[in-house]
Amino acid sequence: MKIFFKGDVNYIKDEIGKVLKNVKFLNYKTRYFEITGFRKGYIYDKLPQLKNINGITKIELKNEELFPLLYEKSYYFKKPVNTFKKFIIAGPCVIHNFNEFREEVLAFNTLEVDAIRAPLFKPRSSPYGWEGYGRDGIERLMDIKKLTKKPFVGEVLDTGDIPIIIKVFDIIQIGARNMKNYALLKEVANTGKPILIKRQPFATLKEVMYSLEYLLKYHSKKIILCERGNNISDDTPSISIDIIKKAKKEFKIPVIADLSHSAKRRDYVFRFARLTKKLADGFMIESSINPHNSPIDTPQIISLEQLKKLIKVLK
Ligand code: PEP
Ligand code: MN
Repeated sequence: MKIFFKGDVNYIKDEIGKVLKNVKFLNYKTRYFEITGFRKGYIYDKLPQLKNINGITKIELKNEELFPLLYEKSYYFKKPVNTFKKFIIAGPCVIHNFNEFREEVLAFNTLEVDAIRAPLFKPRSSPYGWEGYGRDGIERLMDIKKLTKKPFVGEVLDTGDIPIIIKVFDIIQIGARNMKNYALLKEVANTGKPILIKRQPFATLKEVMYSLEYLLKYHSKKIILCERGNNISDDTPSISIDIIKKAKKEFKIPVIADLSHSAKRRDYVFRFARLTKKLADGFMIESSINPHNSPIDTPQIISLEQLKKLIKVLK
């Protein structure tokens, strides 16, 4: 950590010493010094008091000092999805008809799909929107799960649902709206299941990193970060290539691109596939037997025929 200051150095050191016990001051350079010997991560809690010291003009922390677990090791993993290779998660926006979903699962068994979207719980921007079958669909989903070895990916919205959904979801999805729902992050991390967490629209990489560090602090070992663009409340296609690049450079957690929620329209799904194919570790795609029947996100869902073509583009 570098502390920039103006004024009397001894006064500044004394004041810092009151906030941080037993730290070492290094590289005194008239305008700043470096400090070591503090607890990484926990230093976050001391920042307000340090910033409040008269004469301190700037504090610079390395990412490793703020997010020690994120920088500790590689979090690429093999099961239930091999995140070392490009993997594909496909499925409907929402399960709205279990017979249709059964057919989709059987079809995905024959395709190069590594995991299946099985959404029962939908966060809706309007309180009048249909929120999916929710808990009422669990039994029917468990029956369909017997037809495949492919892992099911499903979003959870409420900590109270976790004991039920862990029976059927192999990868738990934290939706974009909940990226900063820290109570949910802690509980989901504690399940030990792989977690797919989506970047909240307009969240900076640093904000994303705080959420990832939460998951790691609460014992999650398998995480997938998903970029899905900045568009929740409008239909403008949007995906942040910059976030994918920076995330991949900064830390070793697989990063995938959600081609559907970013695209909003079928034609853009293919466009974004070409844009991200070399960068991302995997892809999420909304695809169903009859996209036009979907009550949610209809224009962005691609047919299984289109999915086959898309897989060729991506693999
Ligand atoms: C979803 O993937 O089902 C979803 C709701 O996406 P997001 O959280 O990115 O809006
Ligand atoms: Mn959707």
